Amino acid sequence: MQRRTFLKYTAFLITAAAAPKAFAKPCYATFRSDSGVRDRLVKQKFFDVVYDDDIFLAKDKLPLLKTSLRRLKKIQRTVGYANFSLLDFDEALKIGKSYASIGPFSRQEIDFLEMIFYSQVKDYGFMGEKPIKNITGKIKKSRVKKIRSTGNYLYRGRAFELYRTIRKELGTQVILTSGVRSVMKQFLLFLNKAEKSRGNLSMASRSLAPPGYSFHGVGDFDVGKKGYGIYNFTEKFTGTNVYRRLADLGYLKFRYGPDNNLGVRFEPWHIKVI
Ligand SMILES: [Zn+2]
Repeated sequence: MQRRTFLKYTAFLITAAAAPKAFAKPCYATFRSDSGVRDRLVKQKFFDVVYDDDIFLAKDKLPLLKTSLRRLKKIQRTVGYANFSLLDFDEALKIGKSYASIGPFSRQEIDFLEMIFYSQVKDYGFMGEKPIKNITGKIKKSRVKKIRSTGNYLYRGRAFELYRTIRKELGTQVILTSGVRSVMKQFLLFLNKAEKSRGNLSMASRSLAPPGYSFHGVGDFDVGKKGYGIYNFTEKFTGTNVYRRLADLGYLKFRYGPDNNLGVRFEPWHIKVI
């Protein structure tokens, strides 16, 4: 399966330069980029714009992106936000079949999801490791613990103990904004970003790890300042007292630091556990 999807893969991608205007970049500036470290750091800093060497999904795959994503969102609404964060691939397929309002994933949608999962992400700029090797990877319910009033889970052991220690030190002003994420949860987040960027996989992967590559699947989690909303996921978070306290106490060992070499924007809210 991996080899088959890999061989088909090249047909799924085009560069920004070749992308039809209809879906390439009508509302973004396009930047001409040179190779090298400076260029990579610029892309990570200004992650939400189109660069001339960005890689897009081929136009004929966009309908599959939309229908797969719509089905995943319906499943999340059906099973609930917290349950969805643990949901695996086989369970998602089963739920699709069981609810007429969702409908089964088509063969082409399943092939599309496999293509995204097993493709060479370095081709579109993501250089991180892949902690989850199999699209059907499961999260054992006995290994995670639901964190009250957050809608999120954490792995028992190191992750939970670290979060508990942070809460003890900083009090209720620090909150858990994202915990354990299954492969399907990461699919939903990544495809959502890919859809918003009109199929630009390079731009999507500058914002978050592709499915299989997120360490939320194995232990990492995100924290924020209570009441700070979406700003918890921006560099503004570094201006908060929560961030300063975390830094002072030595809890910030960045997975994606300010000048990382993984092709990902700086994520000051992400706590590296593994
Ligand atoms: Zn994170």
